[in-house]
Amino acid sequence: MDVTLLGTGDTTGTPTVGCDCETCEQARDRGIQRSRFSVHVRNPRTDKSLLIDLSPDFRQQFLTTDVPLPDEAVITHIHFDHLDGLGNAYRVFDELPVHAADTTDPITEESVAETIRRKYDYLDRVSVSAQTPFEPFEACGLKITLVPVDHPPLICFGLTVEDPQTGAKLSLSGDSSYDIPKASRDVLRDPDLFLVDAIVPASLCEYHPIGGKDPDNNGIPRTFGTKHMTREGALSLAEELTASKTRLVHTAHFYPVEEAFQEPLAIDGEQYRLDGTGIERLQ
Ligand SMILES: [Zn+2]
Ligand SMILES: [Zn+2]
Ligand SMILES: [Zn+2]
Repeated sequence: MDVTLLGTGDTTGTPTVGCDCETCEQARDRGIQRSRFSVHVRNPRTDKSLLIDLSPDFRQQFLTTDVPLPDEAVITHIHFDHLDGLGNAYRVFDELPVHAADTTDPITEESVAETIRRKYDYLDRVSVSAQTPFEPFEACGLKITLVPVDHPPLICFGLTVEDPQTGAKLSLSGDSSYDIPKASRDVLRDPDLFLVDAIVPASLCEYHPIGGKDPDNNGIPRTFGTKHMTREGALSLAEELTASKTRLVHTAHFYPVEEAFQEPLAIDGEQYRLDGTGIERLQ
């Protein structure tokens, strides 16, 4: 499968509009984008493409990246930066099946699938398929498994995308703290490529109103606030899951400029081929 990182930023993206911090200025100078989160997966055997999350930057992403429009989509949770790009489906798709979890969220009293159905009921070419976490389903000839992660107060899901022919495996943490349940970690384990939420470095926890949590053995917080992993938390999780390759995504412009463009922080447009024997960077 070919994996293209269409959007690698957090909810404001980098550069952030109206921001003149050094990280945003350098991103502008170098033409680097971290738009709102979305990942494109093409199955070369079926020539079908799966989109993971519908970024509000959908239009710009598909205008600037040479990948086909998706045949199906998966949505991890209902935050703006992952869902609201679905409005772009209007008059662009003849048909777009969208997969999302069927678990009822105690906060919204709806599942992710139900919220999408309600918010986008005017898009009659979008059909929503409710999927049960931990039960694999097929999309674009690939095997998809949703797993619950930790993104309070809303429910959110990580996922794996596996090619049943080659054994290639992509895992995504979804928006999550470090406190991912063990059963979910077991599903995410041993990916060829791991895309993991790393919103800021742990050093910034002191600026969060409630600080950090989930400290490692050296006291370094692996969770920023309650919702997202620190860079250190993301790297620690990648090591635990024995990921062959890791890219840090959903990163914020709050990374200090001297750290913001270091490896393994992803930027928009990166493309990888997973063929079951390894991973090759295409772009
Ligand atoms: Zn900025
Ligand atoms: Zn979120
Ligand atoms: Zn997000």
